[in-house]
Amino acid sequence: MRIIIIGAGPGGYETAVAAASRGIEVTIVSDGPVGGTCLNEGCIPTKCFCRNAAFLDDLSKASSFGLENLNYDLDFKKVVSRKEEVVDGLRQGVEFLLKGKNISLLRGRASFKDSRSVKVALEDGSETEVSGDYIIIATGSQSAVLPIPGAELCLTSKEILELEAAPQRLCVIGAGVIGLEFASIFKSFGSEVTVLEFCKEILPRFDTDLSKRLKQALSKRGIAIETSAQVQSVEKTADGYKVSYLKKEQSAEVLADKVLMAVGRRPAVNSLNLADAGIEFTPKGIAVDKDMRTNVPHIFAIGDITGGYMLAHVAVFQGKKALSAILGEASLVNLGVVPAAVFTAPEAATVGLSEDECKEAGIPVKCLKSFFRANGKAVSMDEPEGFVKLVVAGEGSETPGKILGCHLFGAHSADLVQEVAALMSKGATAEELSSIVHAHPTLGEVILAAAQGA
Ligand code: FAD
Ligand code: NAD
Repeated sequence: MRIIIIGAGPGGYETAVAAASRGIEVTIVSDGPVGGTCLNEGCIPTKCFCRNAAFLDDLSKASSFGLENLNYDLDFKKVVSRKEEVVDGLRQGVEFLLKGKNISLLRGRASFKDSRSVKVALEDGSETEVSGDYIIIATGSQSAVLPIPGAELCLTSKEILELEAAPQRLCVIGAGVIGLEFASIFKSFGSEVTVLEFCKEILPRFDTDLSKRLKQALSKRGIAIETSAQVQSVEKTADGYKVSYLKKEQSAEVLADKVLMAVGRRPAVNSLNLADAGIEFTPKGIAVDKDMRTNVPHIFAIGDITGGYMLAHVAVFQGKKALSAILGEASLVNLGVVPAAVFTAPEAATVGLSEDECKEAGIPVKCLKSFFRANGKAVSMDEPEGFVKLVVAGEGSETPGKILGCHLFGAHSADLVQEVAALMSKGATAEELSSIVHAHPTLGEVILAAAQGA
């Protein structure tokens, strides 16, 4: 069997390696560095910056830990070069994997010739054609740009990672995941940060309780956040960039040395010539069924290109689904339970339904909460800020007691949410969670404490 995979981001390259290990001949085509957005300009470089930011945050509290008279300067060039070293090292790892048995990597831009064959414009200027029994599209997404005057003056999430110095004043348009992660990072780097968000709350797709509390925590750190702010234009002035916005029909403006536009990402559907292969798509992505199959039975699509959750781990597990379908095997992957994290300081994380979503769906729920300030480990780490909210099916629902969602912020939330995700994927109740022995003292006890309210 031969499979063509277009795109070598986490969805594409992990699926390629898994397919090759099953004896399938794989050709993977990539028009960018292997590892895709995640490795080269997304998850990994931002998390390198997050580590620097956390280091600085800790140093700023050194005195309360008995460390006096510390003297240090932030060498921003080193921050950037460390990030590049990490990315280069991991990219070499992916390149090595793609040199494995049964895989051939073509560097170039792919587009469909028809539903069975793909043309590839190779990096050296020549063109080749490949065909396979199955084709998996994993071409990811690109930054969205607001149609406003001066949009071209703004940085994207890729460009902000290439700065040579932290700006004195940073304005971030969009309080989604990308906007808040960079706002939090650059605040720690010493920038004055203002975030402008169109919706009433930050992270509009998250549980409102979580969004409100995280906003308070970020504001307390000195990040200025304006919600219900509709950005109108960006203009270059003698005193930096002027970002004009409307709030409650009043005009207002922010002056900044750099402006980051982080208003979402769009599936990269345009370059693929999808129509010639008869593949149905919209600007929101390629439509797929539960096995990640498009309307053309031997063509699958995975990851950001499908326009669902734009998360690296989702791309990878969608790839596993597609591969199982191709091999005619049952899949254990449950794409109904997807944890996600926001690497701000403090971190936030979420899995499952929010309280608001349950209300909209008419599901009666009980919300169980607990707070980091009552957790011995959190307090001893000097990380007392944070909360956990378990959304549990209430009396009168089809499955009383079942955990439907978990929303939290506080130290290591990204790791903590995993326990609840594991239990949710097995359909566990809050009472079952509360009966699991948790080690003491651990942050995991915050989740236990919430469940004990069941
Ligand atoms: P991508 O990683 O986008 O890879 C697609 C690849 O396809 C690219 O290499 C591209 O060059 C190639 N390609 C596109 N078109 C063609 C073509 N026609 N021919 C050949 N090749 C083509 N997610 C998380 O889960 N956790 C995080 O912490 C996180 N942080 C992020 C931070 C930032 C700043 C950004 C921008 C994103 C972040 N994400 C994070 C999201 C994550 O990066 C994406 O969800 C993930 O990379 C999607 O994987 P993918 O395989 O679908 O596509
Ligand atoms: P997003 O959809 O999360 O957030 C975009 C934000 O911009 C929203 O809050 C939206 O209301 C706001 N916005 C839209 N138009 C606006 C306007 N005119 N003025 C002001 N605000 C406006 O998108 P993102 O933050 O760009 O991230 C893109 C994708 O990347 C997400 O799907 C996310 O899951 C993924 N990502 C994940 C991680 C992670 O897992 N830690 C990190 C970064 C990115």
